[in-house]
Amino acid sequence: MQTKKNETASGLLMPLPKHVEQKDGAFRLHMGTTISYDPIFGEVVELAREQLACNIGGEDILFKLVEGFGEDCYRLKVGKNQIVVSSTYPSGGFRALQTLRQMALANDNLIPCCLIEDEPAFPWRGFMLDCSRHFFSVAFIKKLIDVASMHHLNRFHWHLTDDQGWRLTVEGYERLEEVASKRTLLSYTDGRTYGGVYTDEEILEVQAYAHKRHMLVVPEIETPGHASALLSAYPTFGCTGGPYEVQDRWGIFDEVMCAGNDNLLQFLQEVITKTARLFSDPYIHIGGDECPHTAWETCPKCRQRMEEQGLASVKELQSWMTSQVCTMVEKAGKRPIGWDEVLEGTEKLGIPSSLIVMSWRGDAGGIEASSLGHDVIMCPNTAGCYFDYKHLPSFDEPGNIGVTTIEKTAQFSPIPKGISKEAQCRILGGQGNLWTEKVTSAKAAEYMFFPRLSVMAERLWNPQPFASVEERRPSLEKKLTRLDINLYRGASV
Ligand SMILES: [Zn+2]
Repeated sequence: MQTKKNETASGLLMPLPKHVEQKDGAFRLHMGTTISYDPIFGEVVELAREQLACNIGGEDILFKLVEGFGEDCYRLKVGKNQIVVSSTYPSGGFRALQTLRQMALANDNLIPCCLIEDEPAFPWRGFMLDCSRHFFSVAFIKKLIDVASMHHLNRFHWHLTDDQGWRLTVEGYERLEEVASKRTLLSYTDGRTYGGVYTDEEILEVQAYAHKRHMLVVPEIETPGHASALLSAYPTFGCTGGPYEVQDRWGIFDEVMCAGNDNLLQFLQEVITKTARLFSDPYIHIGGDECPHTAWETCPKCRQRMEEQGLASVKELQSWMTSQVCTMVEKAGKRPIGWDEVLEGTEKLGIPSSLIVMSWRGDAGGIEASSLGHDVIMCPNTAGCYFDYKHLPSFDEPGNIGVTTIEKTAQFSPIPKGISKEAQCRILGGQGNLWTEKVTSAKAAEYMFFPRLSVMAERLWNPQPFASVEERRPSLEKKLTRLDINLYRGASV
């Protein structure tokens, strides 16, 4: 019997592996399937027992240590009677497991015989969840990390602070939890509030879960704008002294951190130190976007800072803040990442050399930063990376003002057009971002993420033409449905 196209490895997988050879027949995964492994794959096999429901013992599935593969790279041989995974690193074994898991989910535990050799196109393959505008449970975050990791994504960017809620605790600053983590729901007249924080234990739990799935966690502490929640708890950190409130509306607010206030800098130092201690991965995102300078123009403390530092404009003052916060991050042993506004007002002070730039307002920021020798992560809102946008330009679809069709995501390339070969090496990869002003629940977030995040994952692992993405949508939908994802099933264009 000939294998149907939608039952071959290439028909069942997203991302598509770099190299696939189809063979006849299939391996049937069942309750009695056994696994053996080299000890370096111990943790991967622990997950395999869960995800493929098999047992340690025999050699139906074999995880072999073979020298010569890079991080995340693997070879997978599926025969009718045995599956052999070869890899040098646990990350490669893990990616192979996810490839097996996808085929099993999409094809009722019949894994088509094949030979796969696989490697990623980009090292940074991420997604961002805004947990400030709306709060998402640890259980949901773990579910997202799991499904994202099934698509070989490896960075979870966790947006933890913004105007509408502060989600971290910091010792000595109890009002962050008491005040800054909650907003009054103005749409109700009874004064009810909304919000919450993640405890240190919960953050460690999320990290352990992510690390087991070979995903790094990147916390974002937004500075110096989007600070209403912080200022509502500590009004002296603002230019006017307040009063401020945790915002229950969406937009860009004039209330920002006072760049002339040494107590604010001391506070940021403590937050960064705590964040660096709590999060074990190498990066801290420092925000830097959408910071109006209106309050700084007339603030005596900010004016004084500018005078002391010889800064000619409030834009330069923001650049000074960026360099201060970057120094804090570096001193804490981490690498800073900032939104592309960090490139502005840098005539006098330059851009801190270790700063990674996240290009979101189109690709201009990414082109400029990479040409200046900075590492860059691409997530342009103009090119299919913003998942808060509607799936279609329809009144009937949920979402923010813009539109990101599946086709648009399927055409995203992290390498901007016209960029030099040298600068190209600076592009680490890309990510899909979900801002949650209008995303009020986990189920709604799933609808916005999927299938666009699956498609994004392929752009970062092994980009395929849109027509090929379309062909694989039924098998993708089957997998996501089996994982209880409330996905969008409408048109792609
Ligand atoms: Zn000020």
